[in-house]
Amino acid sequence: MDWTTLRKECLACTACGLCETRHNVVFGVGSETAEVLFIGEGPGEQEDLQGEPFVGRAGKLLDDMLKMIDLDRSRIYIANTVKCRPPKNRDPLPEEQAACLHWLTAQRELLRPKLIVCLGRISAMRFIKPDFRITKEHGQWFRNGDAEIMALYHPAALLRDPGKRPETFVDLKALQAKIREVCEHTYDSVHSA
Ligand code: SF4
Repeated sequence: MDWTTLRKECLACTACGLCETRHNVVFGVGSETAEVLFIGEGPGEQEDLQGEPFVGRAGKLLDDMLKMIDLDRSRIYIANTVKCRPPKNRDPLPEEQAACLHWLTAQRELLRPKLIVCLGRISAMRFIKPDFRITKEHGQWFRNGDAEIMALYHPAALLRDPGKRPETFVDLKALQAKIREVCEHTYDSVHSA
């Protein structure tokens, strides 16, 4: 399946109950040849209204985090564990995550990313290990198929608790070093330190 077909089919998905309350399916954003895939949890209110992941305050913080390591949305790909907003921003239910997983799997098959970055606990528990502890294991690298994978605190958690930002800065610098080590074109044309 190509990106155009995948997007079209995903935007029409009714495979779980979240289709009944969504305004938009939040398919994903970024480069279709990205070597680094960021995976968030699920769309919030603004994401649901605008159809794009990570907008609003958390999205602005994510953009700032990316900028710190010479990245922006055009150099990576950002998608969510579920593509429709859970009502009142509750955690996505296991059955909703299970129903939605094949869309992200298809995106991953098209991208074949070298690195995956989970944003937050829900994503890390799904893609790294079920007992992942974000407070202890953020910033650590694990193997996931052909990719290496790590987790950062979710930007919304960093807004709630700015005291976690110094640890996240360390994790971001580790991510930058890993990108330089294993990726081929993510930093093409970037000359700053
Ligand atoms: S959350 Fe995923 S599985 Fe459920 S309706 Fe939306 S796109 Fe389909």
